Order: sequence, then structure tokens, then C-alpha cells
Amino acid sequence: MYRTPASNRLHIGIFGKRNTGKSSLINAVTGQDTAIVSEVAGTTTDPVYKAMEILPIGPCMLIDTAGIDDEGLLGDERVKRTLVVLRKTDVGLIVVAPDTKIDNFEEELVKTFKSKKLPFLFIINKCELPGEEAQKYLEESKLPYIKVSAKTNQGIAELKQKIMDIAPGHWSPIPLVADIIDPKDVVVLVCPIDSAMPQGRLILPQVQVMRDCLDSNATALVTKETELLDCLKALKEKPRLVITDSQVFEDVRDMLPAGIPLTSFSTVFARHKGDLNVYIQGVYALEGLKDGDEILIAEACTHHVQPEDIGRTKIPTWFLDHTKKELHYEVTAGGDFPQDISRYKLIISCGGCMVNRREIMHRIEKAREAHVPITNYGILMAYLSGILERIIAPFEGGLVKLDLEFDKAAKGQ
Ligand code: SF4
Repeated sequence: MYRTPASNRLHIGIFGKRNTGKSSLINAVTGQDTAIVSEVAGTTTDPVYKAMEILPIGPCMLIDTAGIDDEGLLGDERVKRTLVVLRKTDVGLIVVAPDTKIDNFEEELVKTFKSKKLPFLFIINKCELPGEEAQKYLEESKLPYIKVSAKTNQGIAELKQKIMDIAPGHWSPIPLVADIIDPKDVVVLVCPIDSAMPQGRLILPQVQVMRDCLDSNATALVTKETELLDCLKALKEKPRLVITDSQVFEDVRDMLPAGIPLTSFSTVFARHKGDLNVYIQGVYALEGLKDGDEILIAEACTHHVQPEDIGRTKIPTWFLDHTKKELHYEVTAGGDFPQDISRYKLIISCGGCMVNRREIMHRIEKAREAHVPITNYGILMAYLSGILERIIAPFEGGLVKLDLEFDKAAKGQ
């Protein structure tokens, strides 16, 4: 059965003091008895993630943040824990009861949501009970709220609608390929089987693209690069699109007639998870690098490092070949994206296959704020292989115009 990857789910962070009825609210929203965490003080210190299908919202990841309001937790520590959750959160819900005295705890959350430009909503739960303190505060402060009762289900349908309304535009995942192919098209997927591939299966991005083709009523044909020509010969018409793994860019480009549109899995995901325009603009920073410049390679998970690891081995080698400069590299993995990135001359983000769009967009926003160019693995590899122009052409409707003159100058043409 196809299961929505965690990274494509709407991540809903649920905040609130104990005894505001968070667990029963979660049960009412999900329609299941899903007591995620205990509300007994001190029993939970880390946020708990639970993947759910919530109708009509769709696939979600609920993040129960019990523990963040632990008594005795100092303000700084609370903010730190909140920030970790917020990095993954698409929508924040702050649960209060009618008689909750809204104080520093909720105010800090609101401040953080606002500074992160994260949509949020107060939920006055247990609205069947007396008390107007919370509502009065929220009205005076002009903060958005909805009244619900997890006990009677009053307002639960409206709450789900509200969540959909405030979910950020960038949550709604940009399609992988659905918007650039049509029903009955044939899409050829080139998937090399090398030592980096897991035994006995394809990798998630390949499977996701396949699924997107099927959802679009198109045909997905899978081949290795060594059988690509046979695959093309077997087709009556040229395929609508060929999508290749970046590792075999050059082989595929050399054997594929110019009239057949070509892109890469990494480009498909750069658009789906990040901002293709920003990555394309960022890659040109390569041409201005000087000896001693610092490069940040930001990997989004702590995957098993291969001997020929792209971030640690291949990129430094390619850069030396291309720029002839002595550059310094720093590699971060997982949630360790540095607070201060101003010293870097270029940031290279990984494909982000294990994280959601929000986390990648967070990095892009930070880079923008610090005026540091950012690109990603796939775009960088395409640029260095001289086929950037070709592999972004299938998406050109939504792209900035490439600075082709710069591109040619950069390639010494
Ligand atoms: S692309 Fe990024 S998120 Fe995916 S496996 Fe590599 S390091 Fe992890």
C-alpha cells in the first residue's frame, strides 16, 4: 500500500498547557482514540510525532508538544524546544480552555509564530464549560481563535476547515511532474543500480515520481542507463520526458536525442521541496569564489556516509577542478543548520528527500536574509555537467529566465 512519506504531510504543531484537553482535541480531530502522550507533568519531555489521515485535510503529521510547558522549564529552554518543533511545523495550534489565563507561555508562542511567519490559531477547547477569560484576551489582542468542544464535537469540522485555510501555500506540495505531463504520456525513468542503491528496492524519490506519473494517468517506464537506448527503440513514439538520476547525467545526455525533454530526479525535487529559481541563481556564485572562501554543505539528515560521498568528497573535487581555488568546506547534517551563516560564500543544500518542504524553505529563507547564495546538489551537478539549461527546460513556465549570457561566459564559450 502506498503510504504518504512523512515529508509530504501537513505538519501540525499542537501547543498548550496541561489540562486544556489537547489529547481529547486530537482524538476529536482525528476521529480516533489516539492518546499520543500523557498529560501527567514530567512524563514527556520530547515532542511526539504521529502520522494521521485527517479528513478532509489529508495526510498530516501531528506533533504533540507536551513537555514544552513543563513546570520549572526555564524560558530559554522552552523557546529552544519550541524552535526545534517549529522548524518542522506548517501550522501551529495553541489550545486553551475558556478559563485559561493566557500568560507568558502563550505570548512567547505567538511571538515566535509571528517571527517565523508561521500560521497559527488559538483553539478555545471545552467551550461547553463556563469561563470567558481566554476569549476576552484573544479578542482584545486581535488574535485568531476558534471555539470547539472535543466532548460534543462542536466546532471540530470548522476547525479542520480553518486548518486548511491557514495552511501555508508552500505546504500544498508543488507537484513532482503532474503539471508537466498529460494522461497517456510515456515518461522514462533512468535509475542506475550502483553500490549506493539499497538492496532489492528503488529509493523513495524514484517511487514517488512513479506514483505521480500513475496518478496523472501516464505510463512510467523504468530502465537503467545501460538499457536506455533499447528502451527508447522499443517505443513507437518519443517519450514525453526522460528523468534521470544525476549520477549518470552525462551518459544520458550523450545518448538522448536533443528533441527529447530531459530532467533529473533532483531537479524535480528541488522544485517540489525548495525554490528552483533561487537554486539556479545561487549556482552562479561558483564563478565568483576566491581562495579561502567558506562553503557550507547542508545535509538535512544524518544518512550513512558512503566512501564517495557527494558532500564530503565529490563536491570539493569538482569545485577544485572547476574553480582552481582553495576553498574551505563545512558539512552539517540533520537539524544542525548553523545560526550564523553570514561567513559563507555559498550554501549547497542536499536534495532534502527525508525532510518536509518547510524545513528546506527555512534554510532558503535564512540564506536570503543573510544574502548568501544557496543552491542544491542536483542543480550544481547539472551546472557542472553543462546541462542546466536542458534539464530545467521542462519546467520553464514557472522559472526566471536563465542568465544565459552569464552561463556561457561561465562555461568559457
Ligand atoms: S538528500 Fe538530504 S535528506 Fe536525502 S538522504 Fe541525502 S542528506 Fe538525507
